[in-house]
Amino acid sequence: MPKTKLMKVRLGDNCMICNKRKPEGLQVVNTFICLSCESELVHSDEKDAVYHTYVKQVRTLSNNFI
Ligand SMILES: [Zn+2]
Repeated sequence: MPKTKLMKVRLGDNCMICNKRKPEGLQVVNTFICLSCESELVHSDEKDAVYHTYVKQVRTLSNNFI
């Protein structure tokens, strides 16, 4: 994964959760989350598997980039 993707916002990218390329989404640090996955996260509680996947992915990415 390239380290040059820093401020790329809503230009389309591969969602880290569903692994699909989406035209719009949120950029969190070096992590892209599509709008549909983001809304799932908002509506899910901490016991939800999607939330845990998200946290795990962000931690992994943070370790790689920081
Ligand atoms: Zn997604």
